[in-house]
This record gives sequence, C-alpha cells and structure tokens, in this order.
Amino acid sequence: MHLSYSGRKTYKNCPQSYWYNYVEKPLKHEKENKINALYGSWIGTAFEIFYAEKLWQYPDGEQRLVSALPKIFNTRLKGKERYDFKDPSRSSRAPTFKDIYAEVCISVPRGIRSIKEYGFIGHNDQAEMKLDCNIGGHNVGGRADFVVNQMAAPNHLIIIDGKGTKPSRRKLSIDPIQLKWYAMLYHKKTGEYPDSLAFLFWKDEPDTSVQWVDFTPEELVALEAEILENIGKIEAGVKALSTLSVPEKKIALPQYFPTNPEKDNCRWCRYGHLCGKAWSTSDLAPDGSSFSPNQDCCL
Ligand code: SF4
Repeated sequence: MHLSYSGRKTYKNCPQSYWYNYVEKPLKHEKENKINALYGSWIGTAFEIFYAEKLWQYPDGEQRLVSALPKIFNTRLKGKERYDFKDPSRSSRAPTFKDIYAEVCISVPRGIRSIKEYGFIGHNDQAEMKLDCNIGGHNVGGRADFVVNQMAAPNHLIIIDGKGTKPSRRKLSIDPIQLKWYAMLYHKKTGEYPDSLAFLFWKDEPDTSVQWVDFTPEELVALEAEILENIGKIEAGVKALSTLSVPEKKIALPQYFPTNPEKDNCRWCRYGHLCGKAWSTSDLAPDGSSFSPNQDCCL
C-alpha cells in the first residue's frame, strides 16, 4: 500500500478520517474548496520556481518573482484545485483573492531575505524533491519542498519545508515528524543523512522565520518501524471490513478505524456527517474560546 506523511498524520489524528479520506473516499467526485490552502500553494510554487530557475543569481530575481505571481496562479494553480471565493460557508471576514495576492507579494521579498540570511542557497539545490521509497514492500511517499546544498558551508545539506502558517498558529500546526519523515526517506534513497532540517515560515521576518528540527538516526529507525506498524493495522482493518455488508461495516468501522473528535482534527474534516461524532462547534475549546468553522487556517 501507499502511505504518505499526510496519510500518516490523518491516521494518527483520527483513524476514521483516514478511512474516509484514503480508503472509502465517499466524496471523491466532489472537489474540495482549497481556498484556505491557496496562500501556501502560491508562495510554495513561487519559491519552487525561485530555486528551479536559480533566481537568486540575478540582481532583479526578487522583482522577476513578484512579477511572475499572476502567471504562477493562472498556469500552475487555477484549474488544478477548486478555489471558490463565493462558497457560502465562508465567513464575510475571510480574505478575498486580492488580500491573498497582496500577502503573497509581501511574502516573496520577506522569504528571499530569510533565504539570504540563513544561507539557504547552493548550486545543486532541488525543489519538490520526490523521496518515495519502498519500505517492507510498501510505497512510502514524501516530497521535500527544498533540498539545499549550502554554498556558504560546502557539503552541508538541509531539507527545508516552507510553511504559510500564521505566527499565532505555529505551535499548533507544526509537526517535527514531517521533516523527520523526509530525512528518513532521504537516507533510504541516498544512504546519507541530511545535516539539518528546517521549517521556513513565509509570514515571519528573518529573525523568527526558521525553526530547526533535531533528529537522531535511532529516531528515524523508530519512525520506519512505526510506519510498518500503522500499515499493518490499516491493512488488517481494510481486510476485515471488506468482507462485511454495508450495515455490518457501519457497525464494525469504529473497531478498526476509531474516531478522535478533537477540535483540531474535526475543523477541516469533511466527514463529520458520516462519522456522527464530529467535535461540536457549540463546544468550548479548552481555553474557553469558541470556534468558528469558517476560521481561516493559513492567512
Ligand atoms: S469529523 Fe472528526 S471525529 Fe469525525 S471523522 Fe472527521 S476528524 Fe474524525
């Protein structure tokens, strides 16, 4: 079977959400509105181009990238995903297309300042490096945003993941396992360990824009074992459920793929109407605040 980092995260957060998203896929014909991910996709694609075309070599590289933003949206993003600004479930306070475009325009020079400040530049850099590997007969997937061979520190290789996260949500939405996952796959693929792992936050100024993630080879071995354990559980659940009738499956589903109705798991899940256990918007969060389902995740 195939397991990606996002599949693993979904399974760990709520196994039943994994079942709906990756196995049963009851909404597969209905394109999800990816509006909340537009900022991250736009800025991520811009910096993919920055590295692929080595724009850091040009004195006007920053200007070239800012000027290319409309084209990047039209040719690389629009049409590929559904970005529906008229979705009635959006809050009237949610950012408009103009707001997102303005934020990306500001983020490009800020991102370049961070890249220069931390020396994330080298001649053999790769963007969107595919790291898929066979582990125990399974396809374990991963795609690193940037793999940088630092020019300033020869042979220092850094795997970087760009994040469009708001500074206020940084602690909640950052998972060091994501970078360790890429390090584990990179080692499987090349026999080498990366020297460093870093999250790069496009919305932060350089003084706070980088979060380093430490790892040990032992942790990566443990992660590999955990992947195989999760795959074993998923495969056993799928096999057991495949022999049941629809009503039987509905009853047995929580036994193999239990729900985990927590605010941060349910807020972006499209399957609350099927699991019947979704975290309720009338509940109060542990900090006493209430949650709006229209709250934007990345802007
Ligand atoms: S709504 Fe919540 S509990 Fe239900 S499947 Fe989704 S994440 Fe799990």
